[in-house]
Amino acid sequence: HAAKQRKLGSLVYSPELNASSAQTLSLLGELRRAVREGELRLFVQPKLAVGSGRIVGGEALVRWQHPQRGMVPPMQFIPFAEDTGFIHTLTLWVVEEAARIVAAWRTQGFEGRLSINLSTHDIAKPDLLDQLDARSAAAGVPPSALCLEITESAIMSDPQRAVQTLQALQARGYKLSIDDFGTGYSSYATLKTLPVHELKIDMSFVRAMEREPKDAMIVRSIVELGHNLGLSVVAEGVENATVLERLHAMGCDEAQGWHIGKPMPAAELDAWLQQRQTAATPG
Ligand code: C2E
Ligand code: MG
Ligand code: MG
Ligand code: MG
Repeated sequence: HAAKQRKLGSLVYSPELNASSAQTLSLLGELRRAVREGELRLFVQPKLAVGSGRIVGGEALVRWQHPQRGMVPPMQFIPFAEDTGFIHTLTLWVVEEAARIVAAWRTQGFEGRLSINLSTHDIAKPDLLDQLDARSAAAGVPPSALCLEITESAIMSDPQRAVQTLQALQARGYKLSIDDFGTGYSSYATLKTLPVHELKIDMSFVRAMEREPKDAMIVRSIVELGHNLGLSVVAEGVENATVLERLHAMGCDEAQGWHIGKPMPAAELDAWLQQRQTAATPG
C-alpha cells in the first residue's frame, strides 16, 4: 500500500523516466482512468476585445481533478501525454467538451469563439480534420466558432506539413492562432505562408512590458507586424489595468489575463458574463 502511495505522490513527469518504467505505466493508467471516470476539467479563460470592452469568447485550458493530488495543472501531464501518444485521446476529449460549451453559449445567445490548444502530435495526425468536424457537427457548432492554437515550435518541427494541415483546417472554416508568438523559431518566410487569423503574443513580453522598455517595444512591433499581415493580435498574461491601457494605445485587438478574468469552470463563466453585463448596463 505504501509503495502505491509513493507512486501517486510523484505525479510530476520527467522525460528521463524510462518509457516502460512502472511509474510511466502507472501514470498512463491513471490518465486513462481520468478520462474514463470524468476527472478532467475544461476551464475557460475569458478573452476581451480591447477596443469595445466586450468579451468575445475564451480559451479552453484543461485541468486534472485528481482524487488524491487535487487540481493538477496541464504542464504536469500534457508533456507526458505527448510522449506516450495519449495526447490524441486527451485532445479529442477537449474538443468534444469545448464544442459542448460553445453550443451552450449559442443557445443562450452568446456568439463567443472558444480557443483550443493543439499539440505537435495533433497537427501531424491525418484524421485530425475529420475528428474535429465530427465533434463540432455533433454539437451543432460551426467551425468558425472554434479557434485552434498552435505554438510556433509545433509549427517549426515540420513546417511543410504544418502548412498543409493548417490550410485544410482553414479551408473548412476553423480559425487558427499562433500561440506563444515571439518565443519560437518561426521565420517570416514561414509566417507569410501560414493561413492563421491571429498572433498571440507570448506572456513573457506582456508581463514584462510595464518595467522593461524592450519588452514593450517587442509587443508594439508584434502588433504592427500582425496588422501589416492582416492578422488579429492578442496579448496574454495581462495582469493589471496599466498594461491593458498600454495595449489599447498600441492598437492590440484582444487581451487575456488575470486582470480580465482567470480560467474558470464553464458554468462559472456564464455567471461571470452575466454579472459583467449587468454591471455594464446602467439602470
Ligand atoms: P497557453 O496556451 O499559453 O495558456 C496560457 C497559460 O497562462 C495558462 O496556463 C493560463 O492559465 C495562464 N495565464 C492566463 N492568464 C495569466 C496571467 O495573467 N498571468 C499569468 N502568470 N498566467 C496567466 P495553464 O492553464 O496552466 O496552461 C499552461 C499551458 O498548458 C498552456 O499554455 C498550453 O500550452 C497547455 N495546455 C493547457 N490546456 C491544454 C489542452 O487542452 N491541450 C494542450 N495540448 N495543451 C494545453
Ligand atoms: Mg494557448
Ligand atoms: Mg500561450
Ligand atoms: Mg504556453
